[in-house]
Amino acid sequence: MLPETATPDTAPLPAPAPAARVDVSSLSLEALSRFVTEELGERSFRAGQVFRWIHQRGATSFEEMTDLSKALRAKLEARAEIVPLVKDLEQRSVDGTIKYRWKTRDGRYIESVYMPSADRKTLCVSTQVGCAMACGFCMTGTLGLKRNLTPGEIVAQVHAVNRAVRQLENLETYRPLSNLVFMGMGEPLHNFENLKTALSILQAEDGPNFSHRHITVSTVGLVPMIERFGRETDVKLAISLNASTDEQRSKTMPVNRKWNIEALLEACRKFPLRQGRRITFEYVLLQGFNDADEDAHRLVKLLKGIPAKVNLIPYNENPGLGFRTTMDERAEHFRDILCEGHVAAFIRQNRGRDIAGACGQLANRGGENPAETSQSPELP
Ligand code: SF4
Repeated sequence: MLPETATPDTAPLPAPAPAARVDVSSLSLEALSRFVTEELGERSFRAGQVFRWIHQRGATSFEEMTDLSKALRAKLEARAEIVPLVKDLEQRSVDGTIKYRWKTRDGRYIESVYMPSADRKTLCVSTQVGCAMACGFCMTGTLGLKRNLTPGEIVAQVHAVNRAVRQLENLETYRPLSNLVFMGMGEPLHNFENLKTALSILQAEDGPNFSHRHITVSTVGLVPMIERFGRETDVKLAISLNASTDEQRSKTMPVNRKWNIEALLEACRKFPLRQGRRITFEYVLLQGFNDADEDAHRLVKLLKGIPAKVNLIPYNENPGLGFRTTMDERAEHFRDILCEGHVAAFIRQNRGRDIAGACGQLANRGGENPAETSQSPELP
C-alpha cells in the first residue's frame, strides 16, 4: 500500500509532440472530414469511406481500402497513418474469458479482457498505459502512469477483439461485441479528451455503432471530470467506491484525499441521469477492512437519494498487496443488508481469475514479462 501522504496527480498530461503523419484512426468523423477536405483537397464523402474501412471493417492499412482510387490511397499513405496495436499475448480462462495483451508502437503494453456470457459479449477496455491513481488493491496501480492511450489505441482494442471473436466463433456480423466497459488499465476520466473522441467513434453509425446503453465508464471519482462526463457524453457511469468511510477510502484510494466521499456523492447527486438509469457503485470486498455489517449500514445511508446499484466484487488476491478476499457467506450477508435498506445490490461473478484478467489484476503479467512490470510505482 502507498504511504498515506501520497496523492495522485490528476492534472492532464502534456500533449505529445505532433506526428509527421496524421493518425486518422484517432479522428472523429467530423475531424476526419476536415482533414480529407482541407488537407487532402478531397470531397467530404471520402472521409466516410475511410472511417467505415477503419471503424466498421477494421482495416489497418490504406492498401485494404479497395474502393478508393490508387492515387488517393497513395496520398493517404504519404500524409496519414493508422497507428497499429499488435497482439502480443492471448490467455484463455476456463470460464471463457480471454485476456489480450497488446503492444503499442512505442513498445508499451496494455490489456483488454473479453467476457462472453449467455446474453452478452463484453469487452473491458484500457484507456492508459498503467495508472496514476495508485489504488492500494490494484496491480495496475503499482505500474504508475506511463502515458495516455490515443483514441485510435482505445478503439483499436475493440476492433481487434471484434475481429478475433468473429473468427473464433465463426460469426458473420462485423461487430460481435455487444457491451463495452471502460474498467481496464487506467482511469478513463484522467484521459477524458481521448476517451470522448473514442466514444464518438465507437457510437458513430458509420463506425461500430454501439448504443449509449451498452457502454459503461468507471471512475475512481475525479469530481470535476464527472460533471464534464455527464455534460459531454451520454454513456453510463460507474463509481469505484470501495469504502464506507473517508478514513478507509483514503487508505486504499489516494484520490479520496483530494475529493472525499461527500464531494464524490454530491457530484453523483447532480449527475444528469437519463430516465430509468442508475449509477453503478463498485465495491471491492476486502476481508476485515470494508466488509463489516456497519460498512453495509453506512453504505445504505450514503447512497440515500441516489438512483444506485451496487456491484459487490469479491477481491482477487494479488501477490504483495496484502488484502484478502471476503468469504462468500459474509459477501451474501453484506448484500442482504443493502437490499433490506432498499439499495439494489449484486455479488458480481469473478471472471478470468486464473489468467489474472479479473478486476484489479491487469498488470501485463503472463507470458514473457514486459518491461513495465519490473518498474517501480511512479506518479507523474
Ligand atoms: S483500480 Fe482503476 S483507477 Fe485504481 S489504480 Fe487500478 S486501474 Fe487505476
